[in-house]
Amino acid sequence: MKNQNMLNRRNFLKLGMQAGGGVLAASAIPVQLMAAEEVTEDEPLAQAMGYVLDATTVDTTKFPKRAGEAGATQFCNNCALYAGKADDEVAPCSIFQNRPVRGLGWCNAWVAKS
Ligand code: SF4
Repeated sequence: MKNQNMLNRRNFLKLGMQAGGGVLAASAIPVQLMAAEEVTEDEPLAQAMGYVLDATTVDTTKFPKRAGEAGATQFCNNCALYAGKADDEVAPCSIFQNRPVRGLGWCNAWVAKS
């Protein structure tokens, strides 16, 4: 009986340590790496920057930077500020405090990758 109590107490302590370790591990995750909300077109900064989810819908009279043949090749996924791979559907953008933007989106801060 005494051995059984010892075993239960040992298991209880072990479980507590595992649970505590999980909490510690979760609290060690940097805030920036936790899921951030994707940028939407109707946010004030997005509107000011002319951000759109679909680069082919840019109003080129308002944002002539994306006009013409060269402009038509500009997408978030080939912008220097897009922190993702070219085929990532979304990736963080530093203009929007590293919140995700669409790979096929665009904004007026577009800069060619070097
Ligand atoms: S800065 Fe580049 S990656 Fe960021 S929203 Fe504008 S075009 Fe897209």
